[in-house]
Amino acid sequence: MNTEKEEQNEHTPVQETTLEIRLDNLEHNVNFLKSKLKENTLFMAVVKAFSYGNNHCEIAKYLEKKDLADYFAVAYASEGIELRNSGVTKPILVLHPQVAHFQEIVTYELEPTLYSYRTLEAFLDFATDKNLDSYPVHIKCNTGMNRLGFLPEQIEDVCQILSDKKQVRVRTAYSHLLASEDKNAEVYMQEQIRKFVECQQIIEKYFPYKVLYHNCNTSGILNYPQAHFDMVRSGIGMYGFGNDAEYQPNFRPITILKSLISQIHDVPKGGYVGYNFGFQAEIPTRTATISVGHADGLNRIYGKGIGFVYINGKKAPIVGNVCMDMLMVDITEIDCKEGDEVIIFDEKHTSEILAETAQTISYELITSLSRRIKRVYVE
Ligand SMILES: *Cc1c(COP(=O)(O)O)cnc(C)c1O
Repeated sequence: MNTEKEEQNEHTPVQETTLEIRLDNLEHNVNFLKSKLKENTLFMAVVKAFSYGNNHCEIAKYLEKKDLADYFAVAYASEGIELRNSGVTKPILVLHPQVAHFQEIVTYELEPTLYSYRTLEAFLDFATDKNLDSYPVHIKCNTGMNRLGFLPEQIEDVCQILSDKKQVRVRTAYSHLLASEDKNAEVYMQEQIRKFVECQQIIEKYFPYKVLYHNCNTSGILNYPQAHFDMVRSGIGMYGFGNDAEYQPNFRPITILKSLISQIHDVPKGGYVGYNFGFQAEIPTRTATISVGHADGLNRIYGKGIGFVYINGKKAPIVGNVCMDMLMVDITEIDCKEGDEVIIFDEKHTSEILAETAQTISYELITSLSRRIKRVYVE
C-alpha cells in the first residue's frame, strides 16, 4: 500500500492509478452532518472497512487532529488495532467483535459490543479471569433488523446479568435502522425507534451511572432527527453520500479515482478487444487501455458497456470484459492521446452513479477499491 501526502497540483499529470482523497471535503461533510445535531449530541465516525476504502488510519488521524469525532467505530478488532498503532487515542467501538479477539481488544483498549448471550457470557468470563475493572462495553439491541443484538424482551435479563458485575461498565446501548434512507419504510423505522426506547427505559432502571444511547446511521441522522439520542454514527455521509438526491447537494464526495491511458488501439471492423471475444468492433473502433481492473475493485459486472469512465470530459464506455489489472474503453469519438488523464469517478461523476450502472450502491464500490491503488491525501 502506498500512501503519501502531496500538495494538490492540478497541472501535474497523473502518473499511475490514484485515489485522491480530499480531506477538506471530509471536514465539510462532517460539519454538515453535525449541523443536523443538537448541541450535546456526540458524533461517532464509522471507519470500518478501511474507512470505506479511504484508509481508516489516515481518516481517523485527520478527524482526531481536527477534533471532528468523539468516538470511532470499526467492525472488527484488527481494524481497531491498526488505529491504535497509528496513534488514535479516542474511544473505539468494535461493532462486531469475535470472542477469540477479546484479549487483543483489551490490550489495545478497544470497546466490544456484546450482542448475544454467547458474547456476553464469554466477555464476563474473560473479564473475571483477567481481573478487569469497569471495562467499557456496549449492548446491541435488535429492534427488527435481526442481524446482531438482543431482543427487547431479553434486555431486562441482560441488565440483571450485567448490573452487579464490577468487571464491566455499560458505556452505551445501541441499535440500527434497517432502511433509514427509504422514505417508504417510515412506519417500520418508527416501530424500531419505539422498541429502542423500550430498551432504553429498561436499561435506565439498572445502572446507577449514565449510559449513552445511539441509533442513527447517516440516513437516520438526516431522516429521523427525533431519534438521535445521545450520539449518532456516520460512515457514508462523511465520505460524501447522503443516499438521497434531496440531500446530495450538501455533501461533497471525498474521492477522485483517476488513471491514465496506457495505450491506444485502432481496432478494425471485425476485430476483438480483450478476453473471450468480449467485444467485437462493428465499425472501425479506437480503444484506450486503462490501468484499473477487477483486482482493483472494478468488477467484471462493469464490462460490456455497463460502466464508463471520463476522458477530457467525455464519457467512454467500457468495452469487452474487465481484465484483472486493466480495462478497455471506447474512445472513437473522443479526442485524446496516450498518457491523458482518465477519471473513473470524481465529485461530479460520482462513484454512486457508477455503482448504480451495476445495480449496486456507493458503499460496495468504494469499499472494494484495492489497497494496491495509490492513495493521495489532499488537505
Ligand atoms: C456501517 C454501520 C454504520 C454506518 O452507516 P452509514 O450508512 O455508512 O452511515 C452505522 N452503524 C452500524 C451498526 C454500522 O454497521
